Amino acid sequence: MEKYIPDIYQKNIFSIDYMKLKEKGIQCLLFDLDNTLVPYSAKKPDDKIIELFSQLKELGFCVILFSNSGKKRLRPFKEELEIDCCASAKKPLTQNFYRILKEYRFKEDEVAIIGDQMMTDVLGGNRVGITTILVNPISLKESIFTKPNRMLERHMMKKLRDHDLFFKGRYYE
Ligand SMILES: [Mg+2]
Repeated sequence: MEKYIPDIYQKNIFSIDYMKLKEKGIQCLLFDLDNTLVPYSAKKPDDKIIELFSQLKELGFCVILFSNSGKKRLRPFKEELEIDCCASAKKPLTQNFYRILKEYRFKEDEVAIIGDQMMTDVLGGNRVGITTILVNPISLKESIFTKPNRMLERHMMKKLRDHDLFFKGRYYE
């Protein structure tokens, strides 16, 4: 059950204390796209996200878009945010997490994943031992591929709550 518990839980990507991550030794941020950065319906990043990402790069973070969506969906984000990306990441499988660690030469304790799903972002990240940061989904609208995951997630959240391990809306870092 512990594999589903994020190291950090915040309301959204703007309420994360990135300076604190930096101080902890995090050098690389893997961002989920859908419902983490933008709603599923958005085709490109808005100004607030462009601004945040330029600040993150100024802080010295290596920022990578790490999404289960395909290349075509990611392209406008990759271009406007000027960041690397890994499409079809197949979270929660671990192979692409390990590929990034190897390719960019980061250790597990230097990388964090930020995403809105326990069953993909958090589980995948915890399996490889990187820092996992859960945020609330931006919108209730989901891709049809996400719906079964959300059902499992609701079940898991209830189980975690019954064991006093995780509470929706109770943020921590
Ligand atoms: Mg997502």
